[in-house]
Amino acid sequence: MTDAQPTSGARKRIRLGDLLVENRMITAQQLDKALAEQKKTGARLGRMLVELGYIDDHALLGFLSRQLNVPHVDLRQFQFRPETVRRLPETLSRRFRAIVLEDRKGSYLVGFADPTDLFAQDEIARVLQGPVQVAVVRESDLLAAFDTVFRRTDEISSIAEELGEELADSDIDLAQLAMGADVTEAPVVRLLQTLFEDAVQVGASDVHIEPDETVLRIRQRIDGVLQEQVMKERRIAPALVSRLKLMGGLNISEKRLPQDGRFNIRVRERSIDVRLSTMPTIHGESVVMRLLDQSQGILGLDRIGMPEDMVRRFRRAIHRPHGMVLVTGPTGSGKTSTLYSALAELNVAGKKIITIEDPVEYRLPRINQVQINFKINLTFAGVLRTALRQDPDIILIGEMRDQETAEIGLRAAMTGHLVLSTLHTNDAVSTANRLIDMGAPGYLVATSLDAVLAQRLVRRICPNCAEPAPPDAHERAWLATLVDLQLAHDGHGFKRGSGCMQCNNTGYKGRIGVFELLEIDDDLADALRRSDAAAFHRRALSKPGFRTLTQTAIDLAAQGLTTLEEVVRIGGEIDLDDSTYSATLSTVTSADAALATTTNATTSVPSIATTSPPSPPATGTVTPPAGASTPTTPGRGSEQANRLELAPLEFSPHRDRGPSGQQS
Ligand SMILES: [Zn+2]
Repeated sequence: MTDAQPTSGARKRIRLGDLLVENRMITAQQLDKALAEQKKTGARLGRMLVELGYIDDHALLGFLSRQLNVPHVDLRQFQFRPETVRRLPETLSRRFRAIVLEDRKGSYLVGFADPTDLFAQDEIARVLQGPVQVAVVRESDLLAAFDTVFRRTDEISSIAEELGEELADSDIDLAQLAMGADVTEAPVVRLLQTLFEDAVQVGASDVHIEPDETVLRIRQRIDGVLQEQVMKERRIAPALVSRLKLMGGLNISEKRLPQDGRFNIRVRERSIDVRLSTMPTIHGESVVMRLLDQSQGILGLDRIGMPEDMVRRFRRAIHRPHGMVLVTGPTGSGKTSTLYSALAELNVAGKKIITIEDPVEYRLPRINQVQINFKINLTFAGVLRTALRQDPDIILIGEMRDQETAEIGLRAAMTGHLVLSTLHTNDAVSTANRLIDMGAPGYLVATSLDAVLAQRLVRRICPNCAEPAPPDAHERAWLATLVDLQLAHDGHGFKRGSGCMQCNNTGYKGRIGVFELLEIDDDLADALRRSDAAAFHRRALSKPGFRTLTQTAIDLAAQGLTTLEEVVRIGGEIDLDDSTYSATLSTVTSADAALATTTNATTSVPSIATTSPPSPPATGTVTPPAGASTPTTPGRGSEQANRLELAPLEFSPHRDRGPSGQQS
């Protein structure tokens, strides 16, 4: 059953290890060591040798290619045809570490991570019913390619169909179905398992199950953007929801009230914490699940994408023995992760740390984490009072939503505690005044508040298909209003992703944090004490070295890490109710409104839009052309055949989550 079995049975195979030793690529001792390790871990020999540092994978690939006289194919550059790759079923592809690259009319070019595996070659030739030409490929690239090509979309559709038929046949008692003895065989269980596997495979943060009038929508948030799969088996929705409610320990007969719960699943050898929330809609209960991968760990502050100089300043603020440090931004801006990074750094035996959270997202050793529970009146303010009697050095308040919490927090910060918290404000500068608006006295804010970090996430350009994209005249004019002219005019660092297999043709892969850090010095504290909001704003913006979120985002775009389109997107989330600010950002808003128009149009078009490139880069003064509803990039039509065939999926850029996203 293991990966190694098929090869060990084939005596005729050339042994990779012996080949390497004969050619003095590794020593016999190194081979023995690697074989011993391999026994323990079950990993492939090639990978083991690379991991042990005996050979680098580039040298290994070159060696194999020369020695066996087979071509080396770089999968990162290769344009796959999913239908060709799928000639070999996923299980076999994964077992043999092989990928079908070309259908050569009767014979096939197949990439192998281990091209010495003759058994695999024979088996594959048998399955494909044609001779196999061998190429060598890097194993890590091969596995990444599988994750893109073998999405679970088809499987999800077919199990949904099966479940739909089963439910049509008879009126099944849903609770029975969920708890029955043959539960692992039930289509509803398999469907959910496949759904979770797909979500984890593509790195989705949330899964939404939404019954509509005639269809069932399953949407996954990937890098902040929802991708949608529409199923016609609307009737399976109650079965899915019931099963999930059961897993989350909820009352399955209560369908009229919202509920929330959690459960843990194991997917692809990872432990995933799932937090689910149900909501009664007019078409039935909808469920949203947030997936938290506990195995991913917390990044250090210098690895979250903050510029070096800012890390230094932020560290200075969190290492003070008292005072308040706030991280702000809408939901999904990464502020919780940043606070956890800070906590991980502060978490030493000599400090007592208490967190008050809703919900507790990651469990941290040594830290006393308290989960808010409104049902039993365990509120932020209430727990905070208790926490202060527990002799803490550092307190993290998940969110300051009301005057009472803010005020107790500020007083705690003034009386010798370091208080970390978040606020739903849009930028660092407006945050201090928001505290005063919430009813906190100006003198208290002035004395206690040390620093405010505003944060957003922008999508990172896919490194595989990044290409230069110098800003056009309009964009330059817009840039010049925000950053210095030099940067705007010499725009050769700017890039965009043209779209490839690795990024699902979106041009983006992963996300990066964008930050704005404001430290409250005497000058700013003075303005706060007098509750002079205008003076505070003016002084804050003129601090040497201060850069707004938009400016920091432009820096990232100028380095080719994100696009101007993404800069515009976060620019639009920044609160514009302040007149000094709106003057600078007015161009951004109009572009954002334009972008919103494009977005709405895109969402409503039933097409294979998942595979389409992102909407054209909307910028300060550019309005999207009429009919921009199905954005395409010139020169990409020919790649149609290479696109992933996820027909029922749609692509709808995620825009607003927090109150900030509301268009005026
Ligand atoms: Zn790409």
